[in-house]
Formats: sequence, C-alpha cells, structure tokens
Amino acid sequence: MSNGLIITYFGNGKGKTTAALGVALRAIGYDMNVCMIQFIKGEWNYGEIYSSNRLRPNFELIIAGKGFVGILDDDHDISEHINSAKSALEIAKEKINSLKYDTVILDEVNYALKLKLIEEGELISILRNKPQCVNVILTGNHMTDQILNISDLVTEMKEVKHPYKKGIRAKKGIDF
Ligand code: ATP
Ligand code: MG
Repeated sequence: MSNGLIITYFGNGKGKTTAALGVALRAIGYDMNVCMIQFIKGEWNYGEIYSSNRLRPNFELIIAGKGFVGILDDDHDISEHINSAKSALEIAKEKINSLKYDTVILDEVNYALKLKLIEEGELISILRNKPQCVNVILTGNHMTDQILNISDLVTEMKEVKHPYKKGIRAKKGIDF
C-alpha cells in the first residue's frame, strides 16, 4: 500500500481548483478513481460538471453545501447553512473512508471553516484518521495553520496578474 498524501492548494491567486482537477485528470488516466466534493461558496463551475459525466465512472463530482455567498443577507437561515456544510463534511468523511477512491478533493473547504459552519477539529480528525493509501486534496483561499501543518504538500497560489483587474470577465473553459 502506498502512502497517500494530504495536498493543499491555497492563496489569493487563480489555479487552486484547476490544480486539483489536473491531478484528477492525471490519475484517471491510470484508471484511478477520484471524488471531488465542492463545498460551494456560491455559483459552481459548470465545466467540471460536464466533464464529470464524461469521465464516469472514474470521476465523481458532488456539489454540496447551499452556497455561502451572501450568507448574512440571503434567504437561508444560518442553521440551514450549518446543516448543509456539516452534511458536506459527512459526505467527505464517508468518501475518504470508503476506499473506493484513490483521491478525494475537498474543494473550497475553507469557506465552511472560515464561516464556522464546520469545526476545524472535525476536519483535522478526518485527515488524521484517513486510510493511509488515500490522497486528500484541499483547496481554498485561506488555510489554517493546523491544515498547513498536517499537509504533506502545500502550494500557495500567489496572484501576480489576473485579467479580472483589467476588467476581463471570467472565461468559459478557463474560469468555469
Ligand atoms: P480556479 O477554479 O480557476 O482554479 P481558484 O480555485 O484558484 O480558481 P477560487 O477562489 O475558487 O480560485 O475562485 C474561482 C474563480 O475566481 C475563478 O473564476 C477565478 O478565475 C477567479 N479568481 C481566482 N483568483 C482570482 C484573483 N486573484 N482575482 C480575480 N479573480 C480570481
Ligand atoms: Mg477554487
């Protein structure tokens, strides 16, 4: 059994989710199985939804959470957000421990943490107790020290330039 890695892509630059998807694409080439759970913060990225259908059964994409944008002024009660974030974490735990996947991606998991919808201790415990062989990839702008400490591989995406600053809108196939 090879040892799985805990991989974290964080920072303010673009490329965190795309890096995780790149790993998925690589692994699927070897007929490995990958599950990506999106702890969405609002809208989701459609490209990977369509791709997941094409990459079946090796790639499973689960859109979890209710969307955290406007959490303070949206229609959903905070308890609804907490419940959906908690259930997303439950799904993550189940997928990680199922031994059906070589790699499980927890995309944008930091929003749920930052908004205190889930407890950091619970996530850390899932990571600590994961089956040895499973790789887990975490993405999100900000990561806590504990998550960085427990990770085997950490890459910070640092914004140098982003077309958004020139007023160029999000592009199909690049951003979504
Ligand atoms: P991607 O999904 O493109 O890899 P990401 O996961 O690194 O991006 P997120 O915080 O999840 O970044 O934000 C996703 C969306 O926000 C994408 O449309 C991306 O282009 C955009 N974005 C990411 N970084 C920046 C930035 N520094 N300035 C403006 N827009 C950004
Ligand atoms: Mg992302």
